[in-house]
Amino acid sequence: MNHDESRALYDRALSVMPGGVNSSVRATQPYPFFIERGDGAHVVDADGNRYLDYVLGYGPLLYGHDMPEPVRAAVQSHASEGPMYGAPTEVEVKHAEFVSRHVPSVEMIRFVNSGTEATVSAVRLARAYTGRDKIVIMQGGYHGAQESTLVEGEPGDVHPSTRGIPESFAEHTIPVPFNDFEAVRDVFETHGDDIAAVLTEPILGNKGIVMPVDGYLEHLRNLTEDHDALLVFDEVITGFRVGGLQCAQGKFGITPDVTTFGKIIGGGFPVGAIGGKSEIIEQFTPSGNVFQSGTFSGHPVTIAAGYEYLKYAAENDVYDHVNRLGEKLRRGITDIVEDQAPNYTVVGTDSMFKTVFTREGPADLDGCCPAGCKQRESCPRYDYCPKNGADVAKADTERWKRIFWQEMKEQGVFLTVNQFESQFVSYAHTDEDIEETLEAYKEAL
Ligand code: PMP
Repeated sequence: MNHDESRALYDRALSVMPGGVNSSVRATQPYPFFIERGDGAHVVDADGNRYLDYVLGYGPLLYGHDMPEPVRAAVQSHASEGPMYGAPTEVEVKHAEFVSRHVPSVEMIRFVNSGTEATVSAVRLARAYTGRDKIVIMQGGYHGAQESTLVEGEPGDVHPSTRGIPESFAEHTIPVPFNDFEAVRDVFETHGDDIAAVLTEPILGNKGIVMPVDGYLEHLRNLTEDHDALLVFDEVITGFRVGGLQCAQGKFGITPDVTTFGKIIGGGFPVGAIGGKSEIIEQFTPSGNVFQSGTFSGHPVTIAAGYEYLKYAAENDVYDHVNRLGEKLRRGITDIVEDQAPNYTVVGTDSMFKTVFTREGPADLDGCCPAGCKQRESCPRYDYCPKNGADVAKADTERWKRIFWQEMKEQGVFLTVNQFESQFVSYAHTDEDIEETLEAYKEAL
């Protein structure tokens, strides 16, 4: 493949943007390929190379790169009639009504502009509502570039995970291992009266894909209830991706107090949202006194796209299609891995998938099965599925990034470059695309 144009653009970018990119994961080695346009399930780069796309903008593009006609029409009319006003619009009401009709935990919603902004606001809200400061999060979880959750360590020894964050922020955050019933119970026994919320992704989507084991989310629900703390699900990835329009909370049958959204809820435009029980969400200004505000919040183009996106999914076979292809891909990769690379593990559910390159072999990954995952009966490797961030962290990240990812790219398949970040299937993908991808996996492995 020729990459001359991308290389030239990268050289220019490096002198005007840090690392040549506007989000760090995009700086692939030796240089990123610059995208010229999308086309269904494909992207085309500046040199005219076509790639089957499983990155899909890191999750928002449920339909791939072609908007369904009602989405396109709504986006175009809102863009040409505005694009924004700093005053409310009808489409915001329609979208809020739609989401609260479908997502079990949502009675009210506040739209913001990114997943990060949603989790920042949710943490502020939980602290204000409970009058407490501490937040319990999961090791290996990700909630965007926010001060309270960019931490690492064990309870009692927690530090910011990047420069630029004062140590004092980390004092109020308690990271525990996902799926560890004891660890979170111990934390509540010690700090129960000071904990405002447990904030977790229902499925870890940024550290491999780690499913909750049976009963774990219920355990979190019970503990938070017993201690008058809030349960906050970060559904920025899983929202309208896993469990269809009911999201992961519907799939697992656990109703959190507050849910954060991003990605799909904005139909491919910048978005975030915080939903939940009215009595909690109404604490936001102006109905309450927890300050929350934003110039672009509820942007008509974004909200129209998001609303039409979800409406289209409600009226068409979207989730059946993406989930069927997701399963076909996971099963196919599992067969290849069994045959060619038995130390690797295929993870995921619905239309999410990833291959985790666990280097040390399965022996020390004791007995985890991805709860609710359809591979449970059929996958001979389900015992080896990682069950927390630390299990996934054993993966051979260099092998993924430097060899496997590059090899797949050269074969025209665009995967997420980080070993730990999820990949997705869209409505634009076809059975033939999946077969082509499996051939590429065979070659690359
Ligand atoms: N929460 C989760 C679970 C995420 O995966 C992400 C981003 N991938 C965020 C929050 C932050 O969202 P954004 O990048 O839109 O700020």
